Amino acid sequence: MEYKNETKNCQNCKNEFVIKPDDFGFYEQMKVPPPVWCPQCRLLRRMAWYGYRILYKRKCDFTGENIITFYHPSVPGKIYKQDIWWSDKWDPKSYGRDYDFSKPFFEQYKELFEEVPKASLNTEYTTMINSEYCNAASFQKNGYLCFKHITGEDSAYTNVALNTKDSLDLAYSSNPELCYEIVDVRNSFQTFFSQDCENCHSVYFSRDLVNCGDCFGCTSLRNKNYCLFNKQLTREEYLKKIKEFDLGSMKNVLEFKRKAYLLSLDYPRRATLGRNNLNVSGEYIYNSKNVHDAYFVSDSENIRYSQLFLKGKTHNCYDFTAFGSSSEWIYEVTWMGLNTSNVKFGIWGYRNHHTEYTFGCHGSAYLFGCVGLNKAEYCVFNKQYSKEEYFSLVEKIKKQMEKIPFIDRRGLKHGYGGQIPIDLCPYAYNESTAFEFFPLTKEEAIAKGFTWRDPDSREYLPASIIIPDHIKDVTDDILKAILKCLACGKNYQIIQKELQFLRRFNFPIPHDCPLCRDRNRIKQLNPMQTYKRSCGKCNIVIETSYSPDRPEIVYCEKCYQQEVY
Ligand SMILES: [Zn+2]
Ligand SMILES: [Zn+2]
Ligand SMILES: [Zn+2]
Repeated sequence: MEYKNETKNCQNCKNEFVIKPDDFGFYEQMKVPPPVWCPQCRLLRRMAWYGYRILYKRKCDFTGENIITFYHPSVPGKIYKQDIWWSDKWDPKSYGRDYDFSKPFFEQYKELFEEVPKASLNTEYTTMINSEYCNAASFQKNGYLCFKHITGEDSAYTNVALNTKDSLDLAYSSNPELCYEIVDVRNSFQTFFSQDCENCHSVYFSRDLVNCGDCFGCTSLRNKNYCLFNKQLTREEYLKKIKEFDLGSMKNVLEFKRKAYLLSLDYPRRATLGRNNLNVSGEYIYNSKNVHDAYFVSDSENIRYSQLFLKGKTHNCYDFTAFGSSSEWIYEVTWMGLNTSNVKFGIWGYRNHHTEYTFGCHGSAYLFGCVGLNKAEYCVFNKQYSKEEYFSLVEKIKKQMEKIPFIDRRGLKHGYGGQIPIDLCPYAYNESTAFEFFPLTKEEAIAKGFTWRDPDSREYLPASIIIPDHIKDVTDDILKAILKCLACGKNYQIIQKELQFLRRFNFPIPHDCPLCRDRNRIKQLNPMQTYKRSCGKCNIVIETSYSPDRPEIVYCEKCYQQEVY
């Protein structure tokens, strides 16, 4: 069939959006109707379902033990600790029920969703050693507050990380060792307070360095050593200078951060970060082909409107938010992957194929509207059917979803063909990944149909000590102290491993809580939005995540290559 560009009005925000001929081809292949929400509204809805970062204390509803979970105590339903949840000590199919054709699909799905027990955390728990305060993580040894993190040893305060060793306070980084306060750093050793660096060692307060060592406060350098604020020094000069700097003081650290940032504004930035691509658009795209409107995608092909693939090798997907890993033919899902194929609409699933509207189902096939099933086939609302019964029932339900749509709390209709409505979501907007990339106020979030979690006053006690400016004045008493975040007022603590690290490298005690630190690092990333802007040198129009009102100089790839390499 021949398709043309079609302009539609988003049923959610009412803005116009365009569906292109290629898009129609994908929707036809996936046997789904074209979307009725615009890409941005779909993105926010998927990311609002990506809650993993805020932990609470609750009781396991199976064993009665105290557990750590990412479900707030007020979230209805049962929470089971992970070893129970994954075991055969309970049967998710015992929650199975008949479909009622007189009621909207999502009204019935909400009941099932709230009744079936949920896993306290979504880690690969058998691979976690002494790492109970981590979520969305696997293969952690002595990890603390590690999130979306595959393989780590003695690491803490991480978000989106791969293969870390003895590193603290990092985001969107892979293979760091003995690193601190880094964002988008790869394969680096003793790299501190730095961003967008690769193959570096002994680097401080720097940005966009590749194959550099012993650099301080530098921007956009390649294959350099002993540079101080982009000035080449001899080895002796550099080491002498560095010795004079005292990074043990928070005042000094803040001053160096400020100085390095101001210097970085004198150097051009690349329109987009990424490498080794063919025909791509978006930000942080690596080794990919035909990838568009994407963010943090690697080793993938034929992808649109997708984000946060920690490990790529993913093909033919639209609207896929986290995390890929050898998956194909995916549409409108959040937190799925690992050899997943032909999956539509759902949250948190591994190794599934031919499933629609699932939450927490794994290793399964041919599921429709199910919750918490493992290694199941041909189920609808957690009830077992024969293969023939399954297909005819699913067809009937899809038609019924159109005839009797679900009406959400803002009066919007939801039929067949989109991610699960946010009305069912157990995570508040400010607990989700959506908030990290698209911050809203409480009022704005609620107006858009999301929920909000207010602070718990018990976590906002007065500080029991004043943090000394300099690490040399800090005693071990700080490990028992209640600290109060300078930014949000929430209490936090310093852990042993952290204190040792900060003393070893002579860095000050942080004045902000781990969550504020993490969210500040995510703000340092280029945003998940692109703008038209002109190249600061040749003036051609470029697509970039630097909005036109930002102070950075932005170059097209060609001009940038001429300047930096
Ligand atoms: Zn919209
Ligand atoms: Zn804070
Ligand atoms: Zn240019």
